[in-house]
This record gives sequence, structure tokens and C-alpha cells, in this order.
Amino acid sequence: MVSRVIPVETFDLVIFGGTGDLARRKILPGLFRRFLSGQMPDGSRIIGAARSDLDRAGYQQMIRDAVAEFGGAEKNDTKGLEAFIEALDYVAIDAKGEGGWAQLAGLVRQDVVQAFYFSVAPSLFGDLAERLHTHKIANAESRIVVEKPFGRDLDTARALNETLASHFDERQIYRIDHYLGKETVQNLMAVRFGNMLFEPLWNNHYVDHIQITVAETVGVGGRGAYYDKSGAMRDMVQNHLMQLLCLIAMEPPSQFGADEVRDEKLKVIRALQPVEPHHIVRGQYDAGPDGPSYREDAENPRSFTESFIAMKCEIANWRWAGVPFYMRTGKRMKARSSEITVVFKDLGHSIFEGDEARHRNILSIRLQPNEGIDLQVTIKEPGPGGMRLIDVPLDMTFADALGPDAEEVPDAYERLIMDVIRGNQTLFMRGDEVEAAWSWTDPLINGWEARNDVPKLYDAGSAGPEDALAMIHRDGRRWREIKA
Ligand code: NAD
Repeated sequence: MVSRVIPVETFDLVIFGGTGDLARRKILPGLFRRFLSGQMPDGSRIIGAARSDLDRAGYQQMIRDAVAEFGGAEKNDTKGLEAFIEALDYVAIDAKGEGGWAQLAGLVRQDVVQAFYFSVAPSLFGDLAERLHTHKIANAESRIVVEKPFGRDLDTARALNETLASHFDERQIYRIDHYLGKETVQNLMAVRFGNMLFEPLWNNHYVDHIQITVAETVGVGGRGAYYDKSGAMRDMVQNHLMQLLCLIAMEPPSQFGADEVRDEKLKVIRALQPVEPHHIVRGQYDAGPDGPSYREDAENPRSFTESFIAMKCEIANWRWAGVPFYMRTGKRMKARSSEITVVFKDLGHSIFEGDEARHRNILSIRLQPNEGIDLQVTIKEPGPGGMRLIDVPLDMTFADALGPDAEEVPDAYERLIMDVIRGNQTLFMRGDEVEAAWSWTDPLINGWEARNDVPKLYDAGSAGPEDALAMIHRDGRRWREIKA
């Protein structure tokens, strides 16, 4: 039932930062799965390029170990793994100096698809881009992949865009937001634009409000120092939640093409209204039985950085005027759960005698866990005793619907890397989108920084600060329960 695997063209993929956490945990195990599925043609090569002083055999061993540690069931395919490992090479390189570049130039072929994955700190992007050109490695068709964070505000994002633009065309630049590679996120577009059922109702005549929740159970321990300079707004809202908001709110593009989709997303961001300070709740997790407080994790006893944020947003256009979009995300929450919920309006009138209950259709799109979609509909309670109504879910959990094939669904990184090789930018952020998103978040962040706004404490393992509950209760609504 899972779609056919269509091999991509033969490629050379250079992973700058090929020894780093992201490469070992996600990128290489993902590429191994694509290799096993038959999507990576013979002759394609993956070249790790990083600071560590390794040779080819040393890197191959590192990736064997990484697959053993981070891979799924496929790691037991030892014969497959050895065949994949043969496609790996390594160059010790210094992004800021000349070491290793001549060797890389000798390795990368000019007659296959070239992709350069910048899985390094953004401060190195400019050096890499420049040296790829001075050493005549990249050409006019090469693709570069850049990781988040794409800037920490509008100015830094603009500077990054300018740096990349001085060496590459926009059509060569792939800004990754791995949320866009998730199966359900793409299903959101399939549901909206592939069915007659939903689109006519997708507006302020029928939708009461929309909720987007991305809750994590982990804290910031381990990356506290980095996170403390960022916070939930920069780390999650400006990119992932904004992308989800765009996909749910955008107008239907004329076709499923990269610029058509991204043009529509950009219009949503530009129509977002400034958020009133009383429509934002920032929180910080407190110490609990399972772990230390945010401030301890961040090793900053006076930190004002938020590990939770909830906000009420409005999109000023004909489709959405008057429909609140409630978004929240946080760490150390009660369950790991990401969900988009479209809550439809109450029935105007019930024809059923004695039916005082409020029956609402609710469409929820679960990103994790149990990726799937369910639609709450009202039916008659079975049995005798008149017309009593109850609400039940029409559930489409992908794992059930697709059966064993569901396991074959590629994870976000695998899919996105294959899209890079195919030259398909639809699921990547365009430079103007990223800048527009920062233009919206910057004044909010500057506002609370200027006010020295102190985040509200919340209990680890809870649904966030009380004020976040109060914010939505004031509107006569409630958050969806966060459950695994
Ligand atoms: P990391 O610190 O684990 O690895 C950094 C890599 O960069 C190493 O391979 C190192 O050798 C290489 N490097 C550092 N300085 C270099 C230089 N001067 N020349 C050449 N190579 C150099 O980092 P990471 O966690 O793998 O993250 C990489 C990028 O991906 C960062 O931009 C990060 O923000 C982003 N990212 C990471 C994750 C994640 O889960 N780790 C998630 C999202 C985004």
C-alpha cells in the first residue's frame, strides 16, 4: 500500500558536520533506510566532511556504530549495512581554513547530482559556501541543505540569506524544517485539497477555532546553554508551529509546486496580526520528582527564557477573520504529543428533543504519537430509548490503515533528503518565508525582553502554566487534553 519507491538520480552527497550528532542520529541512519529500499542508485556516494581526523575506514566504522545505536529494525540487515558502508567516504576538513578542500575537490564528481548538507553551526555557512566555489567544487546545479536555526532574528536571517545568495541561487537552497517532512503534515494538504468534504467548510463560517499543540516530555538538559539563548518562541514557534499554521490556513495553491505552495504560505504569515501581550503566556518548568528545574538545566539561576509558550493569533483575511488560532508548545509537559485540531462551530439548531448537549465536529490531525487523523462526528447512541446523541471518532490511524507497510513510511529526514536529490523544493522554506516569520516574531520577543517579562512557573509533567488555561477559558473555550 505504501507508494512505489522511485530511485533518484545518482548523486554525491557531502555532509559537512558528518561526524556530528544530527548526522549520526538522523541523517546517516535515514540514508541507510533509503539505500535498503532501493531508492539510492548504485554509484551514489555519501562523503562525510568534518573536523575530526579520521580516514575512510574510521568514518565507516563510526557510521556502523551510529546505525547500531540509532537505527531501527533495519540495523539487523548486516549484509545491507556493509553494502551501504561501501558508499561512504570521508574528508577531514576545516571550514575556516584550507585543510581538506583540495581532497574534497578531487572526490566530488561534476557529472552527477551534487548536494552539500550544511549540518554545522550557521556561523560556518558563509565559509563553506565560499570555499565550495573558490575550490570549484560546486556548480550551477549543486544543491545546498541548511539546518535550523536559520538566524535568531530578522537581521541575522537576512544576513544568512545574503551570504548564501552571494554563492547560490534560491532554487539551489534547501532550508530544512523537518516538520514539513512528516507524513501527517503532508497528509494535511492531501486531506484539505484532495477531498471535496473539507475545503468548503474550511473558513470562518464553519470553523470556531483552531489549536496547534506541540508538547514534549523532555527538558533542555544537555543543550541548556544553547536553548537558554533561544527559548520556545525562536526554537519552535518561529519555524515548526508557523509552518503548521501556514499549511492549515493557506489558500489552495493552483498546483502542488514549490513556489505555488510557498507563495500561499507566505501570504498567511504576512496576514498574521501582531499579538497582544495578554494573548501570550510564557512559562518555565519547575523542578519535579523526575528532574531539575529549567533554570538548573540551563545553568542560569536568573534565566527569563521560556520553555513553554501559548498564544492566541489572528489571521486578517476573508477566510479567517474572527477565528482564533491557539498555539502552544513546551518542554517537560505531561505527554509527548503534537496535534492540530480544527474545532467546527456548534449546530445552529438541534431538531432532536431533549438534546441539550453541544455537539461539535472536531478534526484532529496527530503528528505524534500514532500519526493519524480523526474526525469527531455525532451519531445516535445505540439501543432503544429514543434519539440520544453521542460523539464518536471516525479514526484513521495510519498504522492501522496501512498495516505492516506503515513501518516502511520514510521518516522526515529521509524523505527530505531524497527531495533534495530530486530537486523538489516544495517542502523546504524559502528565504522570504523565513524572513517574514522573523518579522512577525521579532516585535513580540523584543517586547518581552524590553519589559523583562518573567515566565510563569509550571509543574514538570503538567499542561503548562495556569495562565495558559485561563487565556483560552476567558474565550469560553478549552485546550485539548495533552495525551500520549
Ligand atoms: P555537533 O556539534 O554534534 O556537530 C558539529 C559538526 O560540525 C561536527 O561534525 C564537527 O566536526 C563539525 N565542525 C565544527 N567546526 C567545524 C569546522 N571549523 N570545519 C569543519 N567542520 C566543523 O552539531 P549537531 O547537533 O550535529 O548540529 C549540526 C547542525 O544541525 C547545527 O546547526 C544544529 O543547530 C542543527 N540541528 C541539529 C539537530 C540535532 O538534533 N542535533 C536538530 C536540528 C538542527
